[in-house]
Order: sequence, then C-alpha cells, then structure tokens
Amino acid sequence: MLSSISKTYFIKTFGCYANEADSGLIAGLLEDLGFVELKLPKFKNEVEEINYVLKKVDLFIVNSCSVRQKSEDKVYGIGKIINQFDREKRKRSCVLLTGCIVGSALGNRKRYQIEDLQRKTRNFNGYFAPSDVSGLLKALKENNLMKRVKKISTGKVERKKNDKNHAFVNVSFGCDNFCSYCVVPYSRGGEVSRSKKEILQEIKCLVKNGKNEITLCGQNVNSWSLSKSEKAKIRLGNSQKLPFAGLLRELHKIEGLEKIDFISSNPFDFTNDLVEAITLSKISNYIHIAVQSGNNEILKAMNRRYTAEEFLDLVKRIRKAKPRVEIGTDLIVGFPGETKKQFMDTVKLVRKAKFAVAFIAMYSPRKGTVAQMTLKDDVPLLEKKRRHSYLTKVWKQSKNEKK
Ligand code: SF4
Repeated sequence: MLSSISKTYFIKTFGCYANEADSGLIAGLLEDLGFVELKLPKFKNEVEEINYVLKKVDLFIVNSCSVRQKSEDKVYGIGKIINQFDREKRKRSCVLLTGCIVGSALGNRKRYQIEDLQRKTRNFNGYFAPSDVSGLLKALKENNLMKRVKKISTGKVERKKNDKNHAFVNVSFGCDNFCSYCVVPYSRGGEVSRSKKEILQEIKCLVKNGKNEITLCGQNVNSWSLSKSEKAKIRLGNSQKLPFAGLLRELHKIEGLEKIDFISSNPFDFTNDLVEAITLSKISNYIHIAVQSGNNEILKAMNRRYTAEEFLDLVKRIRKAKPRVEIGTDLIVGFPGETKKQFMDTVKLVRKAKFAVAFIAMYSPRKGTVAQMTLKDDVPLLEKKRRHSYLTKVWKQSKNEKK
C-alpha cells in the first residue's frame, strides 16, 4: 500500500485497554507498511529492556497513560534512559510519543502546551495524538521512515492482535462525561462513535479470521451512537432504547462469535434496555461498572450523576436478570473533602454489592481537571493509604459472601 523497506518497531504500552487497543491499531498499520515487530527476550528491569530496544529497532513508540502522576512519570523515566543511552550503540532509532499525555497537549481540550511536553521529553523525535493514524504517518515521514504519506482512515486498518481467539474492538473514542477527577475528556477529546457498518465489518472480518471472543471498547460504551442531547437525557433506570443495546443484539446473531464483553460501562446511563440485552447468552457473565464512591455528596462532587442507592438497585436488577453474573468495579478513596463517615458509606456499599473484582485507587489530583482546579486535596496520604487497605480488606471478605 505504501512505500517502506523492512524496518523493525517496538511499542511500549502503558495504561488501560484503550491504549492496548490503540497499540494494536498502530502495530497493524506499521506491519501493513512493512515494519516487523521486535520480539523481546526477558529482562531483569526496564532500563535493560529500553536499552535493548534502542539498540535494535528503527522505530520505538511509547504509548503513554496520564491517569495518575505516577503513570506520567514512567514516560519521563524512559526519557532519562534515552538520555543516558550510549549514542554510539544506538541504531539511530526514532522514538515517538503517543497516548494520553500527547492527547492532553495536542487535542482541542488542552491541559498543557505541547512546548511544555517537548521540554520534558527532549529525546523523543515526534508526537502523535491517540488513535491519530494520519499523525503517525506524518511523524514517520518527518523521520525518514517512509517516503510518502497516503490518507488512511482508522476503520480501514486491520489491528494486530496477539491473542489467538480474542480481539478488542473500539466502538467509540473520547468522552463527554467530565467526571471531575478524570483527564480522559481532555487527553482523548470529545466522544466520537464509530459507525455501525464499520464495527460490524471489522467484527465479521475478525470472526472469519478465527476470533470468537471480542471486547467492545469505549470510555462509555452505553452512549455509543447517541447525540449530545440524547446523552444528557438518558438516566439509569429509565426505559429508553439504547443504540448500544441494539448493537449487542445484532452482534449476538453473528455465527461463529461466541463471547461478547464490553468496557467501560457507566452506571448513570445503564438503562433497562441494556439490562435486558445483557441477558443474551453470548454476553459475558462479567460486567464492569465503576461506582467510585458510596457516598452521595462525593458522587455529586465527582459529577457521576447517580446515587449510591440507584447503583445498588442497578446491581440488584442485573443480578435478577442474569443470575450467574459477576460484577466488577472501580473505587477511589480519599477524594477531596471525603470524611471518615463518607468513606464508611463506600465501605457499606462494597459490603452490599459483593463485587467479584474491585480496582481501588487513592485519589491523586490531575492537572486541568475540575477537581484539581476547584477542590483541595485535603485527605493526607497516610489516611488515603489506610482507607485503601481497609477497603481492600472489606472487599476481599465480601466477594465470597452469598449474593
Ligand atoms: S466516564 Fe468519567 S471516568 Fe470514565 S472516561 Fe469519562 S470522564 Fe473519565
């Protein structure tokens, strides 16, 4: 399709499934261009790994995450390793940075300027925003890794998947929900849904090539294909039809497709229509719905648009509709202003919900978010750690109790 001689590449991916899915897309495109992936032996530590990559590859892509400061610091750490790398040994590899850190600087909802990022990552040779195929092609051209740039749409690229039976498929990109602590609406921009035609085409092609399990991905799959005004009206518990529930029903009919998962799904627009759709036999028995807190004031400050009672009622309805279901969640402890009493409401909710899986995080302010700009990060780190360990203990005890 495009001109390139055989060159090697390696992608280092940080963060969530969205970055995993993007890395699959980037790898698919690179292999289409004639690049070959560098296979890594086992290393004792990251310094050894990065040094090996720099020595061997023509193209090194770092797909970054910015959900916490720690995640961003990992990328700056790679910058330091590049800096210290013996230039003689380096195979003139081009190092490109993508993912949420870049999205926060190049997107139209900026959290910081590209010049600031360039200053912090001097040893990188270029940047492209997450899922931006044309930005990647431009960076390859600028770094003499391909001769000419053609227009390619994301939907036309076949992703590279390392799993034999399973594949991630994006149904949408970005997010319009603006939970007050979250960087995603800035780093990945506004929500854009892929067309049903494109999604069905991709999945049918995957099934033809031997995949029988897919995970549909989006920051909020429930709002797939809804207009902004429709999204604003939809609330948990109401009976409006969701296009996403319709998509699940359609996928369920595809012969050869055996299991359908989806992530992320928010509680506030998990309507009755979706509760009904997940009863289909091919829909996974694991449903992940992030509750974040069990206290209504904190949920309001987080801009989550549901109450703890509504969430527990949703869990009850899902369990009634799909008795063998396992429910997983995400929780944040130590959100600004969270009192011990408010934290104990989260503990109570966790005891009642009996989650099979729980990812518990300590709040950390992210630059440019509403919480960081307007609320004081006033729960001391020691107290956050204490709440984290107590909630983890409660969750572990509760998960095996009878539902
Ligand atoms: S729904 Fe909320 S937490 Fe999830 S990506 Fe969007 S803003 Fe972030």
